[in-house]
Amino acid sequence: MRGAAVVVGGGIAGLAVARGLLSAGWAVEVRERSAAHPTSGTALGMWPEAMLALDRLGAGETVRAASVEQRGGRILRPDGREIARISTRRGARLVSRPHLLTALRGGLPPGTLRWDTPVRDARELRGVDLVVAADGVHSTVRTALFGVAPRPLGTVAFRGTVPGEVGGVTETWGRSRLFGITPQHGGRTNWFAAVRSSVLTELGRDAGEVAVLRALYGSWHREVRAVLDALDGEAVDERRLLDLPPLTSYVSGNVALVGDAAHAMAPNLGRGACESLLDAVALTEAVADATDLPAALHRYDVRRRRSANRTVRLARLLNRMSTVERLAPARDVVVSTGARLG
Ligand SMILES: Cc1cc2nc3c(=O)[nH]c(=O)nc-3n(C[C@H](O)[C@H](O)[C@H](O)COP(=O)(O)OP(=O)(O)OC[C@H]3O[C@@H](n4cnc5c(N)ncnc54)[C@H](O)[C@@H]3O)c2cc1C
Repeated sequence: MRGAAVVVGGGIAGLAVARGLLSAGWAVEVRERSAAHPTSGTALGMWPEAMLALDRLGAGETVRAASVEQRGGRILRPDGREIARISTRRGARLVSRPHLLTALRGGLPPGTLRWDTPVRDARELRGVDLVVAADGVHSTVRTALFGVAPRPLGTVAFRGTVPGEVGGVTETWGRSRLFGITPQHGGRTNWFAAVRSSVLTELGRDAGEVAVLRALYGSWHREVRAVLDALDGEAVDERRLLDLPPLTSYVSGNVALVGDAAHAMAPNLGRGACESLLDAVALTEAVADATDLPAALHRYDVRRRRSANRTVRLARLLNRMSTVERLAPARDVVVSTGARLG
């Protein structure tokens, strides 16, 4: 079927849905509250299923051209000894958020994406055939229709990039905190850190992010210290991590939730954006083949909700495990043994 859709939010999920619906013959308008996309940003891991989704949406080649492939990585202790080595047959591609957004924006007909156009009240959208809520973790539309708010994970993330290249992916797990390093296209290195909020409270916040990071990780192994040494003058993004309690439906009437609006999750599996792309393909296929919209949206909900909610739970568990406070040595033994047997 065909009709007119309004997509609320022009992030990864919203642009992906817009591409899909346009290719299925829908008239689409994307309302984005910000004036432009960011021009710098950290790397996102695109797993093979997400790359397939990007291919279906006609953006796969552009993403491949500006990304690097990684097959697996290592989990390390703060002194640099290995806890586990993880290898995957099919690699993930690491692409910066601005590149991914540019690829998804590419080829949209002029006027599809409307900047500076916040949706303040879901009632503004009455009369539209299909409303897609792609407005992120704090979704106005989800709050109005489902009354469900995100919940804190009890951890804070820092992330950024520094000049120079690294060979592979490492994640270093210590007590109450982790530090990750990955390659990024264009001769830069991507890094991220997560720490339990209680540790930051104890530390006090008189100092800026770089000083805090050096206090938290300055005694860790050489690769971590090399990133810390390169941080002066570089942007650092700091945010309290949240996820969403499982929703009992991603659909209400003619409204479908996609992306973080439906299933915001801890970043530890590197899957939130990937799941958004899978939502876009599932929603497009459901409405393209349908003769009536309620049945199509029901099919979308059935196809996506259970597996995405499961990923939210797994990501939450990994967030806890990787920043565990008291049982770090026992955790390391379990993870190391599991990786050897697996
Ligand atoms: C530290 C960290 C690392 C991550 N690493 C990875 C990774 O490696 N791989 C991966 O797949 N995912 C990763 N993620 C998750 C990923 O960033 C998110 O899942 C993804 O950005 C979700 O996209 P979205 O479009 O649903 O939401 P958002 O990116 O939040 O976009 C929502 C858009 O809606 C707009 N908006 C909001 N409200 C309104 C409104 N009322 N009206 C109009 N517009 C509105 C916003 O301005 C924004 O542009 C990571 C997340 C974090 C925090």
